[in-house]
Amino acid sequence: MGGSRSRARVAAFVAVVAFIAASASVSGASALNVTSLEETLSHSPERWTYWSNTQLTEFVQGMERGSPDRCKAYTIGESAMGQSLWVLSVTKVPGVIKPGRPEMSLEGVPAFLYVGNMHGDEPLGRQLMFYLAEELCAGAAEEPAVDRILSSGVVHLLFSLNPDGFDLKTRGNANGVDLNRNFPDAIKRKGNLTLLGTEEPESEAIARYAAQLGTTLVGATLLHEGALVVNYPLDGAVSGSKVRREANPSVDDALFRYLAQRYIDVQPELQRNPEFPTGKVQGSMWYPVYGGLQDYLYLGIGAYCTTVEMNDQKWPDEVDLPRFWKQHRASMYAFLDAYLSQGIMVRFRANEPGDSVVVKAAGASLQVARAFLDLEAGEEVSVHFPVPTGAYKVAAEWQGDDPQHPELAAAEVEVRPDARASLTLARPLPAARGGPMRVAGLVDLSDASSSGPSLVGTANGERREEGVPPSRPGERNYRLNVQGGMTSDRQQPLRDAVLQNLKNRVESTHNASWKRSHRAQEILHASYFSTGLMVFLFVAIVGLAACRVDKAPRTRARGLV
Ligand SMILES: [Zn+2]
Repeated sequence: MGGSRSRARVAAFVAVVAFIAASASVSGASALNVTSLEETLSHSPERWTYWSNTQLTEFVQGMERGSPDRCKAYTIGESAMGQSLWVLSVTKVPGVIKPGRPEMSLEGVPAFLYVGNMHGDEPLGRQLMFYLAEELCAGAAEEPAVDRILSSGVVHLLFSLNPDGFDLKTRGNANGVDLNRNFPDAIKRKGNLTLLGTEEPESEAIARYAAQLGTTLVGATLLHEGALVVNYPLDGAVSGSKVRREANPSVDDALFRYLAQRYIDVQPELQRNPEFPTGKVQGSMWYPVYGGLQDYLYLGIGAYCTTVEMNDQKWPDEVDLPRFWKQHRASMYAFLDAYLSQGIMVRFRANEPGDSVVVKAAGASLQVARAFLDLEAGEEVSVHFPVPTGAYKVAAEWQGDDPQHPELAAAEVEVRPDARASLTLARPLPAARGGPMRVAGLVDLSDASSSGPSLVGTANGERREEGVPPSRPGERNYRLNVQGGMTSDRQQPLRDAVLQNLKNRVESTHNASWKRSHRAQEILHASYFSTGLMVFLFVAIVGLAACRVDKAPRTRARGLV
């Protein structure tokens, strides 16, 4: 690329950014509209190029300047050659983006992360993320899809994990290291996923960033090139071998299949790829990867991580960028909806120091569970499960002195399309424990008057009243009501409803013997048993699960993607 042409591109690029920022600030109606693909494709030809790292920096800073109320640009570290690793975070949830508040996570606000350009010679996802960011940051405020997603959580966009490799057009970073083999590996390290301190700076930066996001990070999607398929954990084969097509599904395999399908359902190209007839593949069923970011984020951080291989050819021609944006745009939005807009949000509180709580949800098609160990007294925790629509039983178990008999709070919720079911589970009152009806009941208050108080049990036996927060459209609010907790006459109708609810449910809840999620068990076992025993169980579980793996897609031998 010649110098003058390069300067012309930069100038045109800056003009585009300025136009977007101006249109967003002058009026709410922007030229960018998620429902109008033709408009986004009509921008000047300079827009459809691979933007340089300098342009990347100008872009994220321009986005923040144009929409400081919903966009924040910051770096999470530096590359081996000292280039900034920029993240643009976008949300409309109040309290996340505030002047003087450096943290980009907020307890109770789920987050999702797109990671592009981890391999320097794979820039397509990085470039498409720019177009996505424009719409999220500067798009019409009233656009339903954007509003729904940004009101549900935080979208983090890490455009390039490997800016040096982008400049060098190499797979690895400036030190020649493949970053996607550079993370602690569960198989090779026998379950120890702590950083060694010898990782490349890019790897360490994203590992620490993901750890900071913590339980708010519902999921992440890594954008690669070299094939057209959605890939999901586990990437490592249980044998630790390099043999291809060795099944090693995770305990969340059904959830990953559902998530992958959300991306595939709105993309015809993924539905008619003869190499991957289903459009998706579990990592080790294709070829095993050890030390990859996907397994690390899933096993080490707890994020439901997926990978999209966006195109067979790496670094496709710039002239085809409009076509690729048209191909992947709806899918990239579908993932934001699947991970953030839809699911179950469970809130709970640790009562005593060292509390361990297992939260799980069981629906017709899948079960999910998370274990939270050694919590601080009074610590409030939220967990968001990005699950399919349908009815779910949700439970929180407080692991007390007797692990065989945890204190249980349970509820039932309905997950609707692109909407979140939120509920708070409270540990049963001491008086309610151990008795014939120790299981707490639930009443759905989403249709109740927002001015009427509901009663929420607390651990020390006191009662307190809370107003029911107003529901946003599509979101149902639930409060757990502990048996015997309500005595006010004003609350009589509500109390009757709760007791009726209890009567209807208590027997089935008592009889329900949910198998604990394997994943939660793995986490709990880690604190109870030796590493050797944990690995043994892991192998046994995987061996059983391997019996129910779908027929694998036939793959041809190919290079690394
Ligand atoms: Zn790649």
